[in-house]
Amino acid sequence: MNSQEYIQQLREELRQHNHNYYVLDNASISDYDFDMKLKELQVLEAKYTEFYDESSPTLRVGGGITKKFETIKHRYRMYSLDNSYSKEDLLDWETRIQKILDSDDISYTCELKYDGASINITYTNGKLVRAVTRGDGFEGDDVTTNIKTIKSVPLQLQGNYPKDFDIRGEIMLPIAGFHKMNEVRVANGEDPYMNPRNTASGSLKLQDSAETASRPLECYLYNLKIKDKGNTDIETQFGSLQKARNYGFKVPDHAKEVTSIEGILDYVNHWETARHELPFEIDGVVIKVNDLFQQEELGYTAKAPRWAMAYKFKAEQVSTILESISYQVGRTGAITPVANLSPILLAGTTVRRASLHNADQIEKLDIRINDAVYVEKGGEIIPKIVGVDTTKRDENSVVTAYATHCPECETELVRTEGDAKHYCPNEFGCAPQVVGRIQHYISRKSLDIEGLGGETVALLYKEGLVSTYADLYDLKFEQIIPLERMAEKSAQNLIDGVLASKNAPFEKVLFGLGIRFVGATVAKKLAKHYKNVWDLANATQEELEQVDEIGVRIAESVVAFFIDVKNLQVLERLQVAGIQLAINEDDQQLSSTVLEGKSFLFTGKLTQFTRDDAKEMVEQNAGKTISGVSKKLDYLVVGEKAGSKLKKAEALGTVTILTETEFLELIG
Ligand code: AMP
Ligand code: ZN
Repeated sequence: MNSQEYIQQLREELRQHNHNYYVLDNASISDYDFDMKLKELQVLEAKYTEFYDESSPTLRVGGGITKKFETIKHRYRMYSLDNSYSKEDLLDWETRIQKILDSDDISYTCELKYDGASINITYTNGKLVRAVTRGDGFEGDDVTTNIKTIKSVPLQLQGNYPKDFDIRGEIMLPIAGFHKMNEVRVANGEDPYMNPRNTASGSLKLQDSAETASRPLECYLYNLKIKDKGNTDIETQFGSLQKARNYGFKVPDHAKEVTSIEGILDYVNHWETARHELPFEIDGVVIKVNDLFQQEELGYTAKAPRWAMAYKFKAEQVSTILESISYQVGRTGAITPVANLSPILLAGTTVRRASLHNADQIEKLDIRINDAVYVEKGGEIIPKIVGVDTTKRDENSVVTAYATHCPECETELVRTEGDAKHYCPNEFGCAPQVVGRIQHYISRKSLDIEGLGGETVALLYKEGLVSTYADLYDLKFEQIIPLERMAEKSAQNLIDGVLASKNAPFEKVLFGLGIRFVGATVAKKLAKHYKNVWDLANATQEELEQVDEIGVRIAESVVAFFIDVKNLQVLERLQVAGIQLAINEDDQQLSSTVLEGKSFLFTGKLTQFTRDDAKEMVEQNAGKTISGVSKKLDYLVVGEKAGSKLKKAEALGTVTILTETEFLELIG
């Protein structure tokens, strides 16, 4: 077997494993073995660039950057759907189409109405060539690079597929994955995403496809648009779903073929309640005339097909009394207003509280204490208040005045321009902030201090034993043993755990400091770049923004943190305690130091290695990557079709310009 054949074989093997895992939910290889094979393929592809294949499984990891999404005209218009909200509407629809078709022998395909972002994907000769959002139905945005990172979307089809066709479906973020993403955001001091649908559609428009690749997106397909139908034996909508499955697409098996309106109503009734058990959100069902010739006869109105009808579930809504509003203070000082409700049953759970988001929301809805409010569960997420029944309002009711002072420490709240939230600025004296910061410091993803839990931190604070994380290192056995429910063994575990945290690597410590917007990934980047906390503390706003993937918001927040002497004093104490405030050079295991002190930037389409690999190679040889062309840049490595960055570098005249090959030679 020559190298080309071997590469092909690896790709086919990986494609098959991928299909088994992500489409059929049936793993055929261990994660580890899969990763190893994928890495092997990456190595080979980097070596034999002449065998480049736009459908290679290596493209799944993302890395391509899209600055501006191109507008593409759909070759078949993406229509909307007519909606119905009652069983009578459905009966009317049935009568209407029976009349047009002059027949009462009509069968239907009933499908779920996936609540995500619709997508149109074009396949030519079995390869994914383009993916476009719905846009206004006539034209949408080219999001191919991002769609290719979704593992259940086939890049190369299997079986007996048509030569040239479009397929449509919905990009979805399953509920569990959505919650996981939000947990990470909240842990990083960021606002959680509102709902899976918006997050899914936002994910398609991310400029960095590696970020899209990291999100647990799914693509469920439901509609084939074949250019030359004569060549296929597809006669019904239901049959086309089976075909699509055979080509390798993920087509969920909830669709059902029925032959009467009774069948339709059964399907609707079933999913009206069963939807709560699905791992993803639906907002209704879609009924489609099954026979494709009948579909053609029925045709389209100006806006939607006559052969399909959506039945929308009512978002479950109940009315209850708003008893009071309380204000929660997060670890970053952000204030969240919470509605305390008279308990009420909604979508199977008792609801007592609902989020009010922020002051604007309360003002917009004019929500007042003792109001009868409508509470809705948008999907299965935290309930929200969607309106007020003003007819039931007491004539003495008064407009809600938003809190002006922190409920925990009485400090006057601040709200910066452009920020939706109010903040308590009393960072060092406000209990939930102080305790929250220490809790964050000891958490798993930070220093991971065993033997110490969140409740104990609160207790230690209450007893006046700690008020910053640096105080943890001064704790004495004799001080903690008298605490409530503290046995000798647990006291010793606590002391040992704190001691062991001196081994935590710098990046974890940096994350643990709890700088706003510095999540685990950003902390890693900053640690790698600055190598120790004091160089980071000295960095200016502009310097920080030059660091790859660090934006204005993060840069500002880092500067603000280190400008505060109280923070610097705490850092000094951590240093005295022996906490790692620099990266351990031994852990780095550099391949060489040939690039020491040199900065790099990669531009254009790289063909010999991915952007991530490139960065890795630079760092492995003691160099740095930066994000913009400036006097600080030493080398610009250009791939195919390099644009403005190359021009700018040439104009500067101080930057050495390298091809990919020259770069590889440089690092040997
Ligand atoms: P609407 O946005 O209410 O006009 O509904 C039309 C949208 O429903 C389409 O653009 C699709 O994105 C979406 N949809 C979800 N599930 C289906 C399905 N099974 N069949 C057709 N469209 C669907
Ligand atoms: Zn406060």
